[in-house]
This record gives sequence, C-alpha cells and structure tokens, in this order.
Amino acid sequence: MEAKVALRGIIETYQNDFLHGYKGEDREKERLAFLELIVAVTRYVQDYRYCSNKKCSCGPEADIKRLATEEFLNKFFSSPYNLTEVSTKGMRDFLSQFKEKE
Ligand SMILES: [Zn+2]
Repeated sequence: MEAKVALRGIIETYQNDFLHGYKGEDREKERLAFLELIVAVTRYVQDYRYCSNKKCSCGPEADIKRLATEEFLNKFFSSPYNLTEVSTKGMRDFLSQFKEKE
C-alpha cells in the first residue's frame, strides 16, 4: 500500500473509529499515541527529515517502528468494521514493514 493511502486510512480510523466510538480507560494516552503515529507517517510521506540517515532515531521510520508495536493501535487496524474505505490489512502491512527493518 502506498504510504499516503495508509496515512489517509490511519487518519480516518482515528477520527471515525477512535474519536467517535472508543471509550477505553487509557483513552487520552492512546489518543496521543494515535496522533504521534499520524505525525510520523505524515513526515514519512512528505519526507520531512532532520538528517539524511534513514536509520537515525530522529527519522520518521524510528517513530513509526516504535508506535507500530503498540497493541491498541494494532487492534484498531485489525477491525473489519472500520469506517474507512482504506483496507485495514493494507494499513497493517504498511506498519509492519517498519517493525521488520533492522
Ligand atoms: Zn538524525
């Protein structure tokens, strides 16, 4: 899946499924993690970088890799009922590319 399509799906999942459907106990902490993921994937799509080393911890890949292991985020991208038209499997595959790196 193209990164910008994944980004659209992540934002739509955040706005529709999380903001308007989710009432977990750690909602505020999870909301921040969701937003951080959106920032990181936006940086990745737009290639906003502080240095040219793609493996550096300041790069968006490092943030995506860290956030992609968050269990509750994965839960949101596993639901067959998401309102977004973007495939949840496509979003999961997009995120898991980062987990496997290194
Ligand atoms: Zn760096």
